[in-house]
Amino acid sequence: MCSHSLLSEVSMTTIRAAFYARVSGEQQAVAHTIESQIAVLSERAGNDGTPVPPERQFVDDGYSGATLVRPALDRLRDLVTVGAIDRIYVHSPDRLARNYAYQVLLLDEWRRLGVELVFLNRPLGQSPEDDLLLQVQGIVAEYERAKIMERSRRGKKHAAQNGSLNVMSGAPFGYRYVSVREGDGQARFEPVTEQARIVLQIFSWIGQDRCSLAEVCRRLQKAGELTATGKRIWSRQAVWHILQNPAYQGRAAYGKTHMMPRGKKVRPRVARGRPAEPRRSNTPVTADLKEWVFVSVPALVDAGLFRAAQAQLQENRSRARLGRRRPGYLLQGLTCCARCGYAYYGKTTHQRGAGHKMKDFRYYRCSGSDGYRFGGERICSNAQVQGEFLETAVWREVSDLLTSPERLERDYQDRTRAGTSLNNIELLKVQRLKLQHALERLIDSFTDGLIEKDQFTSRMGRTKSRIADLDAKIKADAGDVNQLENLRLATERLRQLAAAVGPHLANADWHRRREIIRTLVQRIEIGPEVIKIVFRVTPDTRGLGSESIVATLLRGRKRA
Ligand SMILES: [Zn+2]
Repeated sequence: MCSHSLLSEVSMTTIRAAFYARVSGEQQAVAHTIESQIAVLSERAGNDGTPVPPERQFVDDGYSGATLVRPALDRLRDLVTVGAIDRIYVHSPDRLARNYAYQVLLLDEWRRLGVELVFLNRPLGQSPEDDLLLQVQGIVAEYERAKIMERSRRGKKHAAQNGSLNVMSGAPFGYRYVSVREGDGQARFEPVTEQARIVLQIFSWIGQDRCSLAEVCRRLQKAGELTATGKRIWSRQAVWHILQNPAYQGRAAYGKTHMMPRGKKVRPRVARGRPAEPRRSNTPVTADLKEWVFVSVPALVDAGLFRAAQAQLQENRSRARLGRRRPGYLLQGLTCCARCGYAYYGKTTHQRGAGHKMKDFRYYRCSGSDGYRFGGERICSNAQVQGEFLETAVWREVSDLLTSPERLERDYQDRTRAGTSLNNIELLKVQRLKLQHALERLIDSFTDGLIEKDQFTSRMGRTKSRIADLDAKIKADAGDVNQLENLRLATERLRQLAAAVGPHLANADWHRRREIIRTLVQRIEIGPEVIKIVFRVTPDTRGLGSESIVATLLRGRKRA
């Protein structure tokens, strides 16, 4: 009993290997005879511990790779389809077929059946041809995926049109999603009494009490209401999303968003903890209202209140726009904290200033130092910066850069010996060529028997190490020259920009200044002592790196 199960386990884990060899008629005469192919394939399989028995050796002798109709290949594909083969050894992709389309077809077919394909001449992915093969294979797989997704998308939309909630992945706050399995084949939304009460409350605060979103959040927090995830902190976005969802008036919408390629970046500075380039290339975008499919669900608010809330939101928006009388924050979206990484945001306080007159004070302040954002306890102690001071200082740096772009290049030349590198490289290359010739002469002398082996190896070693030294020097200098080249490009771009801005930089109004700053500055890192302005000067972010041009300012008087 015991030995039997052990045996079956062994046979199950044994890899059933096969190999495929092919030689076309005209190739027979050339070096690669069918026998040599079979020999290397057998040897490799044997070395891997998976010898190939005669019945799994598939050989097409004298068949062209231009067609897939080959007797041995056909038998092999049949066996793979029924799951009788785990691994196939082939000398190289061109043994499978001559053109890429057929190679891709076979690779894809076998990959899907879980068969491992081993090419002898090299592991796949080491030559340009392999890369192309893999790419084409990837494209085919992508096409298949797209086809499946499109089919399932249309299927889901159709189901939603027939009034089925099965296509929804979950229910919004206020409902419990009863899945297909729980709901006897039909999914549904079930109101959750406690949450439904909060939803109704939110709608009436906005629709009847005409509150702002911020006021709604305050009231929710004060009442100690819990969010869907059980937290006590309500964000304005969360409340806004609730107010937008038509499900609450009894019409759940399917297909509100669809995935679209990411558009132009709207954030000037990359968000904290996020990669500079987003990993996913697609992002959800609100679909056209006409494409939404509505499914009936239990309503939590009546249609009149829902409409009133929408109208109030609209009114709040236009009031907010009118209320923007104060000067804005020139550096909004660019400033961040060097200590905790959160954004510095603009904040205005109204308090008594000199002569006991009430006055507005503008600051940039670290979000991490606001306790209320983090459940009561601040996570950063970096002090706020006076708005006037920071904006003036940044604008001065930006104008300096624009009025004298060559400053960049000069600074760099002072710091390095790059200016002389270009001449240097030519000299080094001549030296290297001489050494190369010496090396060749050395080899000639040795083969002609003019020098002894000992002498040959020691001189050979010395010459080779000198060549290696030179190569390292050439590489380093080339790097400097590259940097300089990038800097010249950057300088050139700055000149063009300066020309576009015109001579009256000092007269630029607030909007113009903001535009110029956003074009040139990547981010402003505010540290406890210094402020770092990181410029985006080179369009190419590799090479020089868009971050290597930095201006550092000392922080002015601190105000806690
Ligand atoms: Zn901070």
